Amino acid sequence: MLSYRHSFHAGNHADVLKHTVESLILTALMEKEKPFLYLDTHAGAGRYLLSGEHAERTGEYLEGIGRIWQQPDVPELLKPYLSAVRNLNPHGTLKYYPGSPLIARFLLREEDKMELTELHSSDYPLLRTEFSKDSRARVARGDGYQQLKAKLPPLSRRGLILIDPPYELKSDYQDVVKGIQEGHKRFATGVFALWYPVVMRQQIKHMVKDLQATNIRNILQIELAVRPDSDQRGMTASGMIVINPPWKLKAQMEELLPWLHQKLVPAGTGHFSVTQIVPE
Ligand code: SAM
Repeated sequence: MLSYRHSFHAGNHADVLKHTVESLILTALMEKEKPFLYLDTHAGAGRYLLSGEHAERTGEYLEGIGRIWQQPDVPELLKPYLSAVRNLNPHGTLKYYPGSPLIARFLLREEDKMELTELHSSDYPLLRTEFSKDSRARVARGDGYQQLKAKLPPLSRRGLILIDPPYELKSDYQDVVKGIQEGHKRFATGVFALWYPVVMRQQIKHMVKDLQATNIRNILQIELAVRPDSDQRGMTASGMIVINPPWKLKAQMEELLPWLHQKLVPAGTGHFSVTQIVPE
């Protein structure tokens, strides 16, 4: 039984980091004319109502997207992401937050393709309805990890694979590594982007070690913490692990993270980093 609903967390600091990285990778892939596949293994509902009961209850978006979307000094590199947010909120009030599939829908071209998978019985129909008129997208209800075997390699031989599980099950920390191995075996030149929360630092250390032991090359780790690591409950940081990152991504995130950290964490706690954890 799945209990995680992304609607409680949509637009928080972790989404800001994840969707910034997603938008930069998609923008880089679009620098070449050749079409590509966007595969989202854990796609969520697509669109989140920020004035809805779930988002209102936690108010997480107020300390995430709410802190940056109308800043006057927004860096150029954030524009693709923030344009997707503004596209859903054309009247200047932050009503909806676009999840990862809607960021892709806004940025992708006519010839690109989307494969979106969601397992939850409430979120899947919302996602399917959201994309019912988009001929670029195929929406499936199922296990996202299976798609790493079933949908790869793409015909276009180019693509971004976003892996964004809820880590509700402890096994997710191992399943993501197995899934990436399966996917990489089939599509070694693909860009794989894995999101992770830092709740217990030790779990992330293990996961990174397991990834390093796969012998997959060229892995970048990007992290943004709003508080120092802690033994208490709750997420203190989140990160993205990117395999085969576009060559500019490291420098782009080094430029963006100081600004993002300053705006998202006015108290100045936490940290940020961009580290090549496995060389090319
Ligand atoms: N990627 C979305 C975004 O950025 O907007 C958010 C996804 S949310 C963190 C994780 C989603 O994975 C939830 O909607 C949950 O229902 C779904 N989920 C959980 N286990 C899954 C599985 N095995 N396969 C596919 N989806 C799953």
